[in-house]
Amino acid sequence: MDNDNHLDKHLDIIKDVLKNYLQENKFRNTPERYTILEEIYKLDHHFNVDDLYLKMIQKKYQVSKATIYNTIEIFLDAGLIRKHQFGEKTNSSSSYEKSYFDKQHDHLVIYKKNSDKDIEEIVEFCDPRIQGIKDSIEEIFGVKIDSHTLYFYGHKK
Ligand SMILES: [Zn+2]
Repeated sequence: MDNDNHLDKHLDIIKDVLKNYLQENKFRNTPERYTILEEIYKLDHHFNVDDLYLKMIQKKYQVSKATIYNTIEIFLDAGLIRKHQFGEKTNSSSSYEKSYFDKQHDHLVIYKKNSDKDIEEIVEFCDPRIQGIKDSIEEIFGVKIDSHTLYFYGHKK
């Protein structure tokens, strides 16, 4: 399958997920929610509401920031996106990423030189040892872990 086919198939699946969620929760089934979802799933990076809004405006979609905020909350609750707060010392805006087909991954936040606020880069990594830690914590405490949050912060050497 080429990439476009792959994306189309993914879009069909997530649109179904959204449709079911909206029905179950008695939310209005508006076309702009699907448009916003599609734009998010075409992105390869983390984004914030301003990024997304700008992108929609550039593509001449008629959408308000308030609609994007509302829709983001719905997507979060439906498990279609994941929320991040990458800056640890600033009130920087929340970032989001698509999550439905994602493998679990964690994030390394690299600050700009001489700063502990300005982010230079966010690197995603996947380390199987984290699954190992989860397994043993579940075993020791007799729990089922549903999710976890892990960020590393640093500077380039
Ligand atoms: Zn990520």
